[in-house]
Amino acid sequence: MNKLLIATNNRGKVKEFQELLEELNVQLITPAEINLHLEVAEDGKTYEANASKKAQAFAQASGLISLADDSGLEVEALDGAPGLYSARYSPKANADDQDRRAYLLENLSAKPRPWKAHFHATLALAAPGGALEFGAGDCYGEIIPQERGTNGFGYDPIFFMPEYGRTMAEMDAQQKNRASHRALAVADILPKLKKMLGV
Ligand code: IMP
Repeated sequence: MNKLLIATNNRGKVKEFQELLEELNVQLITPAEINLHLEVAEDGKTYEANASKKAQAFAQASGLISLADDSGLEVEALDGAPGLYSARYSPKANADDQDRRAYLLENLSAKPRPWKAHFHATLALAAPGGALEFGAGDCYGEIIPQERGTNGFGYDPIFFMPEYGRTMAEMDAQQKNRASHRALAVADILPKLKKMLGV
């Protein structure tokens, strides 16, 4: 069976990709399974630059076709922040997701609600031989001041989607995988993924 490396060390993303790509007739490999420990500096100025850097680094290191994601939360009242820096958005050393949510709410506290926001995901698919493809997706909602729900990861507990009446952390995996930026980005890249893998 053809193999695809999920080129991320983020366990939340790995789980979502496994669910989103379940239908594909492909063996999904995680970096941990092949003992690949690679930290790629996310120093690009765009989602595309970071996603392709990650996908290409993992493809080179593993010899496998690799799928990487660079994603972020963009909040209107903060002029699009934290955006590309969503994973590192906190002044605290060794900050975790909870610290980043607290810092975001602190920065929003003086701004009038609703705090409109969207998640963005860019996917890059790289082959060891150099081929490179992209896909993207956006998912719209608003930030709320109180955390709701315990599913998902990152900013999910404070990202509310009015059409579902739930935060992303209150959705089950199936529901998030229909609505999310990552799900839309996977749908966008799927024809190119199938072609590259020959499935
Ligand atoms: P990066 O793609 O490694 O730069 O990390 C993106 C960051 O954006 C994650 O660490 C989360 O903080 C946030 N993020 C991306 N996608 C999601 C999501 O589906 N739910 C919640 N937070 C997300």
